[in-house]
Amino acid sequence: MNELTTRDLIIQGTYLVASIFFVLGLRSLTKPTQARLGMQQAAFGMLFAVIGTLLNGEILSYGWIIAGLVIGTAIGYPMAMKVAMTSMPQFVAFSHAFGAIAATLVGVVEYRHTHTINAQGIMPGMSHGVAAAIGFEVLFGALTVTGSFMAFGKLQELITGRPITFPGQNAFNIGLIAAAFVSLGVLVYNPDAAWAFYTMVSLGLFLGVSMVLPIGGGDMPVVISLLNSYAGLAASATGFAIGNNVLIIAGALEGAGGFILSIMMSKAMNRSFGNIIFGAFGSAPSAGAKKDGGPAKEAKVITPEDAATQLAYAGSVVVIPGYGMAVAQAQHTCRELQELIEKKGGKVAYAIHPVAGRMPGHLNVILSEAGIDYGALLTDVEDANRVLLTADVVVIIGANDIVNPDAEEDKSSPLFGMPIFRPWTAKTVFVVKRGKGTGFSGVENPLFTKDNTLMIYGDAKGVLGNLVKEIKALDEGH
Ligand code: NAP
Repeated sequence: MNELTTRDLIIQGTYLVASIFFVLGLRSLTKPTQARLGMQQAAFGMLFAVIGTLLNGEILSYGWIIAGLVIGTAIGYPMAMKVAMTSMPQFVAFSHAFGAIAATLVGVVEYRHTHTINAQGIMPGMSHGVAAAIGFEVLFGALTVTGSFMAFGKLQELITGRPITFPGQNAFNIGLIAAAFVSLGVLVYNPDAAWAFYTMVSLGLFLGVSMVLPIGGGDMPVVISLLNSYAGLAASATGFAIGNNVLIIAGALEGAGGFILSIMMSKAMNRSFGNIIFGAFGSAPSAGAKKDGGPAKEAKVITPEDAATQLAYAGSVVVIPGYGMAVAQAQHTCRELQELIEKKGGKVAYAIHPVAGRMPGHLNVILSEAGIDYGALLTDVEDANRVLLTADVVVIIGANDIVNPDAEEDKSSPLFGMPIFRPWTAKTVFVVKRGKGTGFSGVENPLFTKDNTLMIYGDAKGVLGNLVKEIKALDEGH
């Protein structure tokens, strides 16, 4: 066995180990209690994949690789450490864009390499199969690059989060998609047709922008996860193009995972893919728009002192946390409140909506960080709604869209059709928020003026802190 074969075997061995760890990681991520382990397994797998790749005999010099590693670490590490949990979706979109740039550049370089050599007559031309793999890779890679940057720009509010539309937009986008696939077809038929290759790259870049433009901020998580899936498909195609097994496997896992997540999120919002991609969600009412000309009903306010008394003597309490709880980092104080209520004999459950916060699993992560038992979480909307029917007090902490009755009652609402919690079916509803701010969708919420709703205005952490203080004061007999 010569040295190269031994090296090849070692590389393939590390790729196999990497792939096993990726699959184990995904499996662990299906259980919240093992999620941390899942991340460690996946990171360990990635370490093996990197080691295997660095052992590749075709690497002529490590200089550029080390430079890339140093620059990438110097930028990426502080960014990842500093990013607020609430900005995670845009951070994910940003990093997808870079993954997609890498996949696209590999495809372009691979095409140029093979194509140039063929033009010089040194090596036979690219096969139809490799042309298909490279074409697929750069098309999906290019549209993921610009699409992810657009998603980042919308979520970071560098550009408007509202849908940007123009007449005939859907027909225009379908035309672009068709032209991109025709170019791909020409490339597969004639791999030497460099013009088709570069036309396809340009159309892919353009498509990323034009496809994300009409999609509103509210649908961005679905788009990001769909782009994640595209990046995975591009990576998998890269694996076929350059004969790299771990890329094929990891890309396929990412492609399938992103797609499944997109479907699950669409279901959670009761929207079809078509509606999300072509529906221009969020364009209907403008932020804060009143629906009719009638006098606006005023929301009723309760003091923390009175709210604390009701909570202290409640038999069953349901907490509905949302984005505001994450912003305020109120989860630890919330656990303290839960413990006090439980000490007084009350039962506390948490209703967690699939799109609460700003990314899938956002509130689950935050609550488990505060040590709140996973058993106390109601993660199915209908199950939670059944529990809400018999709850004494519901405490909504920084949530808005996920408890907006218009999602069920007002066909003109951009939220219409999204499954929501029905806190108003409980005896009393407390809403903790800073003021009259709307939720992510930018629409008013009639829940706040319902008869059994009482507002406690203030930053979530401060309000919960006051409630804790007041309940303790009750105990001390003040
Ligand atoms: P939301 O509808 O965005 O409402 C959050 C509310 O929190 C606001 O009305 C705000 O009102 C309040 N708030 C903000 N900071 C606060 C603080 N420090 N203390 C107390 N309250 C505070 O949140 P949600 O109910 O969780 O709904 C999530 C929304 O985001 C949905 O529309 C969903 O589609 C969308 N989305 C979800 C994801 C995901 O994957 N989970 C990703 C992107 C977008 P005030 O300003 O008056 O305080």
